[in-house]
Amino acid sequence: MKNINSYRKNIRVSGQADGGYVLYWMQINRRLHYNFALEYAVAYANRIGRPLVILEGLASDYPWATARTSTFILEGMAEHAGQLRNSETVTYIPYPEQQGGSYGKLVRDLCSRAAILISDEYPVFIMRERNEKLENELSIPFHTIDSNGIIPMALSGKAPYSAFIFRQLMQKVFRECWEHPPLEYPLKGLQDHGRPDLPEAIMEKQETGLKRLESATSIADFVGGLSSLNKSIGPVDIKGTREAALERLDAFAGGDLLSYDEDRNDPDKERTSRLSPWLHIGKISAFEIVREAFAMQPGGWDIDDARPVGGKRNGFFGGHPSIESFLDEIITWRETGFHFAWHTPEYDQFDSLPSWARETLSDHSGDHREHMYTYEELAASRTHDPVWNAAQTQLREEGRIHNYLRMLWGKKVLEWTADPQAALEYLIDLNNYYAIDGRDPNSYSGIFWIFGRFDRAWGPERQIFGKIRYMSSESARKKVKLNNYLKRYSGL
Ligand SMILES: Cc1cc2nc3c(=O)[nH]c(=O)nc-3n(C[C@H](O)[C@H](O)[C@H](O)COP(=O)(O)OP(=O)(O)OC[C@H]3O[C@@H](n4cnc5c(N)ncnc54)[C@H](O)[C@@H]3O)c2cc1C
Repeated sequence: MKNINSYRKNIRVSGQADGGYVLYWMQINRRLHYNFALEYAVAYANRIGRPLVILEGLASDYPWATARTSTFILEGMAEHAGQLRNSETVTYIPYPEQQGGSYGKLVRDLCSRAAILISDEYPVFIMRERNEKLENELSIPFHTIDSNGIIPMALSGKAPYSAFIFRQLMQKVFRECWEHPPLEYPLKGLQDHGRPDLPEAIMEKQETGLKRLESATSIADFVGGLSSLNKSIGPVDIKGTREAALERLDAFAGGDLLSYDEDRNDPDKERTSRLSPWLHIGKISAFEIVREAFAMQPGGWDIDDARPVGGKRNGFFGGHPSIESFLDEIITWRETGFHFAWHTPEYDQFDSLPSWARETLSDHSGDHREHMYTYEELAASRTHDPVWNAAQTQLREEGRIHNYLRMLWGKKVLEWTADPQAALEYLIDLNNYYAIDGRDPNSYSGIFWIFGRFDRAWGPERQIFGKIRYMSSESARKKVKLNNYLKRYSGL
């Protein structure tokens, strides 16, 4: 039988790795720990006896580019620069791209001297397009590795159209995936294969990159100089480092995890993990988070405690209800989105919605709308609804929204725009510009869920929504505690 981790490898260009160095282009899983792609690159370098070069860059003009996201990513790159600057075995090239852009050229220049390119497999955003484009250009071997989650994306034969479908698969294969985790620190096993032969121009770029990451001030100056970024969406009070991610994980696992089931929907309490920003840029691996959750199981946890329960939400892990509930989010819901997008190239298009959802939305697209807002009004929290305004203010100012309110936030945009297609466009832009965890497979899971993806038809049929699940601010106010939240984000 194939090792489960062989499903993580996507050979985009096959062939013999010859001469040159092994190039690992770290595009999204930006971490040196528990990273299958880096582990593969290290093993490859040792096997062919060639040096390892790691390229980690940031384009200046990516879609929805903001000072917020760029600062967050550069902080993480600065951490890597500090750790790898003096490494004796690996060459780290950090490349924060200057205005005008030569990131793509640098990738191609590095490839022209490499034996093989190894990179991250990722189902959405620019990484998906970049990998597809490079695959048609390169003549050296090009392998992408899926280090996104616990269950390799290639294990699902087709897009799971519900969390239940994915959960059934997950329950069948979890044990095997869990027993084949990534190595803690793959660079520890990298042998010394000498230095790569890099031209002066690339060494200069490496030096400039290291300088730009030298301190918080040099990062702020660099970001301040990029006119391609939306700077009205500024940095938030969360650091894009692995250190910050691990601190958050420790605080959550040792604190709120055991009351997650009860408190997760309570915006006043803020008891969820708040790990999604770091998960998004790959600073932390789902394996680590899940392991930490198991470690908190009262009385201990063993893999034998996990028994398939036919895709049911509760009972599979045989643990505390709060741990079960958290694992359902971090494994089932998170990975349903990754698997769906991986099998669905049109994951961000209205037409990728299930047919019942498209039909009912189209039946009701001409319905009267009592309130209608422009994108600018929405972005500035200028609606009649204080709950919605508070959620949007949290998003605008802090780069996040509490999950329960995020659902309501999305549903109201569907209700208050001219048609579902416009609502979808507004939601994608609002989410991906302002949310620090935006541009993720789960951005599309969450946003398309508003329109019926991963959901079922609901009755009674309503105006505008048709059979799509409805939510209202009035019932949210009755159902969940919002007093402190409203005070905090709207002064009410
Ligand atoms: C309209 C809308 C837009 C969304 N946009 C994003 C986005 O841009 N990026 C993003 O990561 N998530 C998005 N989500 C999903 C969810 O809101 C966030 O993942 C969650 O709120 C993050 O907070 P947390 O880390 O405290 O989650 P926790 O409750 O602590 O959960 C742990 C992890 O599980 C995963 N998770 C939790 N809830 C969901 C969910 N409903 N769907 C998929 N995965 C989940 C996340 O990776 C999360 O970090 C969106 C949801 C909606 C309704």
